[in-house]
Amino acid sequence: MKSHSTCRAVIGCVALGIGSSMGFPGAHAAEDWRTAKTVWPNPLLKEGALKKVSEHVHVIPDGGIPAVANIGIIVGDRAILVIDTSVGRRNGEIILREVGKLGKRDQLLLTATHFHPDHTTGAAAFPANTTIILNDAVLADIRDFGASMVADFTRVSPFFANLLKDSPYPQATVSFDQECEIHLGGGVSVKAIAMGANHTRGDTVFLVEPDNVLFTGDVVMEGAPQIASPYSRISHWLESLDRIQAMKPKLLVPDHGPLGNLTLVDRYRAYFTRITERAAHLRKEGKTADETVEIVRTELRPTFEDSEYRGVWSWDARMSGSVLEAYKEAAPTQSP
Ligand SMILES: [Zn+2]
Repeated sequence: MKSHSTCRAVIGCVALGIGSSMGFPGAHAAEDWRTAKTVWPNPLLKEGALKKVSEHVHVIPDGGIPAVANIGIIVGDRAILVIDTSVGRRNGEIILREVGKLGKRDQLLLTATHFHPDHTTGAAAFPANTTIILNDAVLADIRDFGASMVADFTRVSPFFANLLKDSPYPQATVSFDQECEIHLGGGVSVKAIAMGANHTRGDTVFLVEPDNVLFTGDVVMEGAPQIASPYSRISHWLESLDRIQAMKPKLLVPDHGPLGNLTLVDRYRAYFTRITERAAHLRKEGKTADETVEIVRTELRPTFEDSEYRGVWSWDARMSGSVLEAYKEAAPTQSP
């Protein structure tokens, strides 16, 4: 039996922030994780780690390993939806073994919170009849940045390179512009919501409606937010935080790190608000971008410290990208 997932465009949604007057800042270049001399643990999901977090939602936790994603598995009477995959076919195979433990369903569906290889390339292991649902902007990101992102991941270590072999990005069977209602049977539905350009241009969150559980992608996490796209805008990210708050989810499942609640949203808001205010102020005072980065990092370091996220993933490392972006956004608007 075929799935009944229907996707519709919703008029009046938040615009994608493309073609902003700010141009193409490449703010992510400030962050040097690609070349950092950090030893990365092998990014493999743990076998048998699947846990139930609400009536219809299971999660395979990331185990605190960078570039491993928290995998969501939503179970309806008729279909199972997997959210995110981690890197490469081998992780996809681990996910499929866990899915197999949840019993047989008519249909398997797969989706992703954004295009990065640690969220998409495990799709290579999924059977050919899997329904793959992706936001239009995720597909645009794969088209524009996919190859270079895989090259970056490949350079991290030979293990990463090996995982990515024969693991191309997925192709969508169903794509959508703003929202997609995914019906899994037995009253279980998941609303996929395009959030515009925050971490990436195609950030998508997933609200599991009967359980009130929200998969937030990299838009809200315990670890630091990363400006990872030339389309990323902090001003827009703050609007996204308001949208997430308004959904009133009872449980947040971020892409990476521990599950949480809306206090994670408060923390990101406080961080971005503070950075935005300070960058604008210091820019007005005549400070350069580099001086602003140094001053704001020193000021914020005591408040935004790391718990388990360190090294290239730390608040400290990611802060430069955010401050530089805030500095750019504080530029006085040119009068015509
Ligand atoms: Zn990402």
